[in-house]
Amino acid sequence: MCQHQPPCPKADAIDHNAARLVAYHPEQGWGLLCNQVIVFDDSGELLPDGRTPAARRPQTELTAATVTTSRRAA
Ligand SMILES: [Zn+2]
Repeated sequence: MCQHQPPCPKADAIDHNAARLVAYHPEQGWGLLCNQVIVFDDSGELLPDGRTPAARRPQTELTAATVTTSRRAA
């Protein structure tokens, strides 16, 4: 449970990535927020319930190959 003051936003809150960072593994490129959300260095997120909100990457990084691959995986 969150012991911070003010309390961190919950994992399902719109501002969930404003929660305090409680663990960070730069060598692996991810960190754990107080609300159990895992954030990745590429701006990806993994929510405690397993959902992965769309990464907020600049559109310029998306190539045709990337889009095709992700459509196949879906
Ligand atoms: Zn907290």
